[in-house]
Amino acid sequence: MMQTTNKVPKIPIEKFKRTKIIATIGPAMNSYDAVLSLIEAGANGIRFNFSHAKHDECTEQIAWIRKASKACGKPVAIIQDLQGPKMRLGDFEGIINVRRGQSLAFKYKTAYERTGIIPTQYDISTKVKRGEHIFLYDGKVKVTVTSVREGVVHARAENDGILIKRKGINLPDTDFGGDIITKKDREDLSYGSMHDIDYVALSFVQTAADVEALRRILRNLGSSAKIIAKIETSAAIDNIDAIIQAADAVMIARGDLAIETMPESVPVMQRHIIGLGMRYKKPTIVATQMLASMTEHPEPTRAEVSDVATAVIVGADCVMLSDETASGRYPIEAVKIMKRVILYTQENADVRAQFPEHHEHTRQSAISSTIISLADAVHARTIVAETKSGATVLQIAARRPSIPIIAVTSEERVTHQLAIVFGTKSYTRPVDKMAATKLTDWLRLNKVLKEGDVVVTASGRHPGVVGTTDTIKVRVL
Ligand code: PGA
Ligand code: MN
Repeated sequence: MMQTTNKVPKIPIEKFKRTKIIATIGPAMNSYDAVLSLIEAGANGIRFNFSHAKHDECTEQIAWIRKASKACGKPVAIIQDLQGPKMRLGDFEGIINVRRGQSLAFKYKTAYERTGIIPTQYDISTKVKRGEHIFLYDGKVKVTVTSVREGVVHARAENDGILIKRKGINLPDTDFGGDIITKKDREDLSYGSMHDIDYVALSFVQTAADVEALRRILRNLGSSAKIIAKIETSAAIDNIDAIIQAADAVMIARGDLAIETMPESVPVMQRHIIGLGMRYKKPTIVATQMLASMTEHPEPTRAEVSDVATAVIVGADCVMLSDETASGRYPIEAVKIMKRVILYTQENADVRAQFPEHHEHTRQSAISSTIISLADAVHARTIVAETKSGATVLQIAARRPSIPIIAVTSEERVTHQLAIVFGTKSYTRPVDKMAATKLTDWLRLNKVLKEGDVVVTASGRHPGVVGTTDTIKVRVL
């Protein structure tokens, strides 16, 4: 029988986290045991940050993740987060003092000490236009472009401040014209296509066309990875509906988003995007600084705990950890605390799925709404869905049912991908007319479910064929 997810869960089905945890891997996680404890502590997805990841280290860590996932009988989604056009200042000595009204010049890879021109690690002169803003050092210094000549960007400072080498650059007004996937990203994608990646996260998305461009690249590479659109530019906010529809999942990348828009707009946008994720059946990920203080301290702040709980209450599929697990001092504690907050909140507060009822008249949508009301009416303990591509499960999960969803698929990749979907526990089983029945029998034998429990099942007459779900059953175990 099956490989990765055959181990028996030790807890009743209601005790699974409905909101999932994604942890970023990094130097703090540099052994098999560290990866195993991260997964045991509650990570459902593991993110590789390709701004830093090295291919050979990645290969080793991916093998650890798959091995640990098997050892705990729990699917894990592996996410390759591309650097994208993340722009930074280049190297220079000391601090550059900036005065409001001062003229500054920027150029790709120049020596500041010799030229007086501030170096950048990315050639912004081919992108920015006169009148646009450039935000430097996380938005601490704002400048307006006055001209672009021979590869040099001339600009006027809008405020006083300082610049330090390698600090970030954001271009909130600049249209990349569909050119956001860099040469480095392409090399990383080609690496990823050969290394068991479940999701690719695309940084600095501006339009749906950016997502479609990545989709073409992945298809040409023969990759079965799904796409997470990172929402972190002001252009993405303008095009949010189309981007979410084009992508397979979305990340609210609050770090850069706050710089490019305004910090005060981010919480509002976060709720809006989670709502759109439910409307379009796309998983949503709340990212950045969720437990930031735990990078240094063993306890989170009250505000951080509240941030995680709020994400759960408004119905996010996932909450994410970045530096906390990648380079922090308390990576495992951070995952454990996140899990505790999720479990407490899901038991004691209602998820308020906040989206205007979207009247769809597809068969899939009718089946998923019917299965939830039926489950309710018969007091089912769980919904079981046989799925080839995962689409049926996404449809059901988007309605945020109050009981858990068990997914059964013949595709190992889909099992991994569903690991970060709200309320879902996924299993790989061979294509079989009885796959759901066999799985629930197995769960009953192993006391995850018990005799007399009612389950509602969605399946199809043609198991293993996408889009053929047509049967709803009520079963008493
Ligand atoms: P990053 O994305 O960590 O790749 O910058 C997340 C964010 O901007 O919040
Ligand atoms: Mn970012």
